[in-house]
Amino acid sequence: MSNPGISILEGKYMVTMDQYPQQSKEFTQVHQFYENLQEGRLTTTRCRDCGMEPFPPRILCPNCHQSNLEWVDWPTTGTVVEFTEEAMGIPLGFGEPPLIHALVELPGKKTLFTRIVNCREGELACGDQLKLAVFAVDPVPQEIGREVVQIKRVCYAFEPVR
Ligand SMILES: [Zn+2]
Repeated sequence: MSNPGISILEGKYMVTMDQYPQQSKEFTQVHQFYENLQEGRLTTTRCRDCGMEPFPPRILCPNCHQSNLEWVDWPTTGTVVEFTEEAMGIPLGFGEPPLIHALVELPGKKTLFTRIVNCREGELACGDQLKLAVFAVDPVPQEIGREVVQIKRVCYAFEPVR
């Protein structure tokens, strides 16, 4: 698929138009989530004290407020519970229509709200099988010392299993 990020416009980094998070360890304590995504793994944090497993991953447990967390893998396939399709008026940076979002039931886990990619308008149906789709987005320039380096980024969506 085409690159849906828009962080670089004419050589300038438009931070206010960047819809994707900073993903390096210098900027986020959940950088492991993005590193796992680059390996095709959908992961989150589980609390070792109370067992809560929120998504997206956290740095503190939202239930018992402890930081005793571990990384766990979530299923990379699921089933469409409900979805929306936008065919017109797609916000800048989301590429060509349709823009599809769905509630996806992951076996044994919570229902996940996610974007659906590689799917034509009218093609998706409730009950369809989906799989994780990791895609690259524009890198973000980051100052390290006196150098500006481009930090590679990825994001996740789901796509139909064909
Ligand atoms: Zn907890």
